[in-house]
Amino acid sequence: MKIAVFPGSFDPITTGHVELVRRAVPLFDKIVVAVGVNSQKQYLFPLAQRLSWLEEVFKDQPTVEVASFEGLTAHFCNKIDAKYLLRGLRNASDFDYEKTISQINDIVGDGLETVFLISQPAYSHISSTIVREIIKGGGDASPFLPEGVEVLEG
Ligand code: ADP
Repeated sequence: MKIAVFPGSFDPITTGHVELVRRAVPLFDKIVVAVGVNSQKQYLFPLAQRLSWLEEVFKDQPTVEVASFEGLTAHFCNKIDAKYLLRGLRNASDFDYEKTISQINDIVGDGLETVFLISQPAYSHISSTIVREIIKGGGDASPFLPEGVEVLEG
């Protein structure tokens, strides 16, 4: 069984994340979209809200599951017997950051393999960071949010 973990903050989930999962579904038997909980990090949306959006967005995808975890991503993968990590690459700075993390995860995760999908041009400008800025500034972030994810402006 090929299990991949797609880890992230999903604060909030965007159409960019959904597009990545859609393209990865044929590659794996199961994809676990996993919210990493870092007690040092400040999030805009509470964990329960982020999880319920993920559940809603992927409810019709039988091979996609939603989870959350604390601690190292690699340890979570080992625990659920996932041999693959799924990550997206939007640009060169994603690459620089992801390269190191994936090399470390290979060692810490005992051969954990990271599979990268390069984002499609129509999605490469979308990030949760930008979406949070729009929301904080009172703008309409709906063009970047999947159906079923509604946030109040301002
Ligand atoms: P993190 O807090 O770990 O950066 P994110 O929730 O921001 O988590 O992103 C999780 C993953 O989704 C990362 O691999 C990121 O590259 C990928 N991703 C985010 N937005 C996009 C997008 N627009 N296109 C492709 N991949 C994306």
